[in-house]
Amino acid sequence: MRLSREKIDEILQNVNIVDVISKYVRLKKSGANYKGVCPFHSEKTPSFMVSPSKQIYHCFGCHNGGNAAGFLMEFHKITFPEAMKELAAELGISIDLEDVKSYDKSDEYEPLYDLSAKTAQFFMESLDKNPAARIAVEYLQGRRINQASVKSFMIGYSPGNNTLIDFYRKNNLSIDTAVELGILGKSESGSLFERFAGRLMFPVFSPSGRIIAFGGRIL
Ligand SMILES: [Zn+2]
Repeated sequence: MRLSREKIDEILQNVNIVDVISKYVRLKKSGANYKGVCPFHSEKTPSFMVSPSKQIYHCFGCHNGGNAAGFLMEFHKITFPEAMKELAAELGISIDLEDVKSYDKSDEYEPLYDLSAKTAQFFMESLDKNPAARIAVEYLQGRRINQASVKSFMIGYSPGNNTLIDFYRKNNLSIDTAVELGILGKSESGSLFERFAGRLMFPVFSPSGRIIAFGGRIL
């Protein structure tokens, strides 16, 4: 038996991210959310936020974010099955070691997850810093989506003009993986193009809380 999707959902739906993170980070209530000093980057003023309604955390300083499993993975530097084991134990749900072992075989997706996460960071930084993102910023302001929500949901902007391709090359990220994910396209002549150029970008999360794809809104 492997760690099934159903079991993963059961655990993630029942866990309370505030309880999980409170074990490691001192959290204080701040409006509808909780705030603390980020364990992932050095800071004095708290910019690490936890949303009980969305069951995700997000740091406004270093943009680390995700669900309870993602937090444990990042905090303990452990794998997804190991994080699920810790969450399950908290709920009194048992996961067999055997389940965890067989789940480990899906590590082949690791490069896809990694590239997706880095791409999301690139889109978010572009929304923040690229002058071409003004159209996206105005769109968000027009819809009264505040900065906090923009960050919580990891909303970004794809500036186009080969900036994403340059980003992959500069950081030695796999162009082939980006093509496989559908972020980049390849023309018949073999030249690369950015599928989402000029769009507002939303990451799509897997049930395990990792970015597996992107949605792009034409502006
Ligand atoms: Zn941080």
